[in-house]
Amino acid sequence: MSYLLPMDLHSHSENSMDANHPVQEMCEAAIKKGIAIYAITDHYEVGGFEGEDFDFDGYLEKSVKEIQAAKDKYKDQLRLLTGIELGQPLEDIARAEKILASHPFDFVLGSMHNAPGRRDIYFYDPADKDYDLDKELEFYFVHLLDVIRWGLFDSASHLTYPFRYIMERQKKPYPFRRWDDHLDTIVRTIAEKGLAMELNTSGITKNPSHTLPEARWIHRFKELGGEKLTLGADAHVPQKVGSGILQGLEIALAAGFRYLCYFEKRQPQYVKIQS
Ligand SMILES: [Zn+2]
Ligand SMILES: [Zn+2]
Repeated sequence: MSYLLPMDLHSHSENSMDANHPVQEMCEAAIKKGIAIYAITDHYEVGGFEGEDFDFDGYLEKSVKEIQAAKDKYKDQLRLLTGIELGQPLEDIARAEKILASHPFDFVLGSMHNAPGRRDIYFYDPADKDYDLDKELEFYFVHLLDVIRWGLFDSASHLTYPFRYIMERQKKPYPFRRWDDHLDTIVRTIAEKGLAMELNTSGITKNPSHTLPEARWIHRFKELGGEKLTLGADAHVPQKVGSGILQGLEIALAAGFRYLCYFEKRQPQYVKIQS
């Protein structure tokens, strides 16, 4: 089979609290878009989700089971990986470790949507005068470094996650470079620990176009000795599967990467980037 895109290692099915499409539908979108290696990475928010009563254990069980069935069904068309997006693992480390041991995952994304005790930056409202955005970002990046230091995941997902919502919600420009020192330490720690870093292409089709993190951090990761780069579109609907991956490939090549990384049974594997 010939493929158009080497991978998309980040997407959500109806087994995530914020997505509504079955695993099979997402896989069929991946096949249609010519993706060779595809991962469903449903959310597991270790500290819970915004006080809502979402049954993460039940949905994880269902996700893993349905991915396994889809692996069999589409085995001649798609290399499907059993993934998970593990959010806020430090909120309950014992639980996080138990989850990771409880299922035969291929691939674990480590992510942070909110610092402990803080709200997800998704809820950021620029009109709220009591909201101290810089203070929230400080909490975010300090805690994200702790998550990276813990490091029991495969790829560090969407490092600049809060920027997505700042760009969407705020009319005036925001000085993102204010956080460069924090990000430099985070990217260095990922490289030093031999972890993978994700180039999340979810924002690429938006205006202004941006990857998470920006291209210059992929260059920096390479410069600091980082070797494992994963690409993911973070699709929550079938139409977004593979979105921005071509541009992600260009960024990876320009940064000096010749191989992309994916994981099987949590072991890194490499595919050459066809330029
Ligand atoms: Zn996420
Ligand atoms: Zn995600």
